[in-house]
Amino acid sequence: MSSKPPEKAVSKPDAGFSAPRGMEDIYGAEWLYWDKLFKVARKLSEFYDFLKIETPVLEEADLFINTAGEATELVEKELYTARSKTGEMLALRPEITVGVARAFLEHKLSRAGQLQKFWYEGPVFRYERLAPGRWREFHQLGFEIMGGVNDPLYDAQIVLVLWKLFESLKLKKVALTMNSVGCKICRPIYMRQLQNFYKNHEDALCEDCKRRFKVNPLRLLDCRNEHCRELAHQAPNFFDKLCSPCSHHFRSVLEYLDELKVPYALNNFLVHGFDYYARTVFELSIDGGGEELQLLACGGRYDYLFETLGTKSTPGVGGALHMERVIFAMKAQGVVPPPKPGKRVFIIHVGDLAKKKMLGIIETLREAGIQVSEALSKESLQAQLKMAGGEENKLALILGQKEVFEESIIIRDLKHATQETVPLTRLVDEIRKRIK
Ligand SMILES: [Zn+2]
Ligand SMILES: [Zn+2]
Repeated sequence: MSSKPPEKAVSKPDAGFSAPRGMEDIYGAEWLYWDKLFKVARKLSEFYDFLKIETPVLEEADLFINTAGEATELVEKELYTARSKTGEMLALRPEITVGVARAFLEHKLSRAGQLQKFWYEGPVFRYERLAPGRWREFHQLGFEIMGGVNDPLYDAQIVLVLWKLFESLKLKKVALTMNSVGCKICRPIYMRQLQNFYKNHEDALCEDCKRRFKVNPLRLLDCRNEHCRELAHQAPNFFDKLCSPCSHHFRSVLEYLDELKVPYALNNFLVHGFDYYARTVFELSIDGGGEELQLLACGGRYDYLFETLGTKSTPGVGGALHMERVIFAMKAQGVVPPPKPGKRVFIIHVGDLAKKKMLGIIETLREAGIQVSEALSKESLQAQLKMAGGEENKLALILGQKEVFEESIIIRDLKHATQETVPLTRLVDEIRKRIK
């Protein structure tokens, strides 16, 4: 054992703390993009009747491990786990759908036989290799429809609400890709056909695919490796092999999308890594962006998820967008968040007496619904005037010693550089006259 003190303590004595790698602070102007995204989502969810749900950021680790199926290994590797003081193994959620499904079952929301429509937003955590477009904490915003009957109309509605969300954000070149991954009847048959096909080409496969070939040959279709891609194009197509109920279901989803005038492309290579997906899977991406940053949202039907949670198969369909990627796209396409309206009043004080008096004036303005900015900690008039010059401020109120004694205040129009002294009793009316 070395007697040297821990290296961390010596190397960064003054540097202080920093956010964990792959995790970011969101503040300042950046926040305006997030705010815009929240506002659009809230409006759409109200219109389409989705109710907000918030589930804990921590869940029992087994919830994610047991539902992962073939993807267990990956989920376990990426999971942030922590043992609670009572010995429970908890995990930071790597996605939100599973927590919502857990809540749906726990609160017996399916009992009435009615379907439930939820929306959510919040952070998710995955311990991943860091690269551009990848975070270890990122944010999802999504919509879920659980319970009721399995109606393809709801698959289309989930796609629609995400589509409308991107439309409302004025994002251009959004492309929708649709596929069906079949059901427990037709999927195994198709997987065997894929295995038969790939058996003759095993040597050409990448190492990952050689391993996945036996467990889930579906995943060979979405491998990024060039040779695997070429092979995928020659592989049998699932569209021709879907059983009749699956084929009918998928056709109905597409017909609804046609009716809603939502354009889509079919892509047989679109398969999600989780076994709980049934039938519809979809992706929304920006056409022509950088490879990693292209994908904006994905989702699908997950009727089998509830079985892995220990209950009977229950209809469920949902989709979620990756907020960081959507905001990246908003910036790349110059989708500007709305500027703060120039309706604020900046208050300026000169002297201690005025500073004290200002506190009461701020409360009067707040009660009147007037937005106030201040720099009360600054004493110099010059410094305060400089801060008042931001675009968001329309007026400045200046209170000095003289005004305090006269029970008056100066209202300065920052744009036109004009000013007027008014009695304090008329302040709210005088501000309202100037701010419409
Ligand atoms: Zn089927
Ligand atoms: Zn491969």
